[in-house]
Amino acid sequence: MSEPKRTALVTGSTSGIGLAIARKFAELGYDVAVNSFEAEAEIAHLIAGLRGCASGRIGYYRADLADGTASHALVERVIADFGTLDVLVNNAGVQKVAAVEEFPPADWDRIIAVSLDSAFHTTRGAVPGMAQRGWGRIINVASAHGLRASPFKSAYVATKHGVVGLTKTVALEVAEKGITVNAICPGYVWTPLVAKQVTDQAKVHNLSEDEVVRQIMLAPQPTRKFVQPEEIAELAAYLCSDWARSITGTTISIDGGWTAK
Ligand code: NAD
Repeated sequence: MSEPKRTALVTGSTSGIGLAIARKFAELGYDVAVNSFEAEAEIAHLIAGLRGCASGRIGYYRADLADGTASHALVERVIADFGTLDVLVNNAGVQKVAAVEEFPPADWDRIIAVSLDSAFHTTRGAVPGMAQRGWGRIINVASAHGLRASPFKSAYVATKHGVVGLTKTVALEVAEKGITVNAICPGYVWTPLVAKQVTDQAKVHNLSEDEVVRQIMLAPQPTRKFVQPEEIAELAAYLCSDWARSITGTTISIDGGWTAK
């Protein structure tokens, strides 16, 4: 099936999974809107790298997705610049590991704002144009923690369960409009988000950092291997193909077997 040129917005796409998804879309010839809260000068090398493998346009959109107004405005800016938004990937996310009674309320608020609230605000901005054109793809990067809990991650687990609920609800609302909405649920993927939590995990579990990697991160994954960001990117690309038009309202695990247990 040959497919027309598309425009994709990938939130939180200057690192890890989001960057791999942005690169995959660039390689496929999409126009790609890259986002993070960093100043453009700080990530200029990344944008240059993406432009190097792209045949479409690559634009950088600075927005702090902890702010709902900025999240909604991000979609409006992308539509104003590119003319359409066909693919929305809600990927931005942050993590904090602490016991619930010690969990800083500001971190609770930030985690929910960046992943769950922002996905609501970008989705409400993207759906009308997609519905008008009768085609759209919304992919929410949730987590195995959208399906299973782990101790000391109350905000993250609550957020990702919320993202799964948002995914299913919006999928039902837009099912007749040619728009699919799905959640990808990765297990542990070795990215800066995971690397940064090793110290906190060591503290709350009273383990060494090596033990955290083996006993906390890789133990739940029967493959005993980290998922690679590029594996998530390939799945995202498939979900955007016309062959995936009947896949909607679902969670797709890519977790080395974690949630089979
Ligand atoms: P990462 O830390 O490598 O990248 C996160 C990206 O989000 C960065 O580009 C960062 O700039 C951006 N970001 C963070 N806060 C932001 C804000 N307020 N506004 C705008 N952008 C912001 O993380 P990652 O591991 O690639 O995670 C990406 C997504 O995948 C997250 O939603 C995460 O929860 C999810 N996930 C990750 C794993 C994993 O093991 N790495 C597993 C399951 C799900």
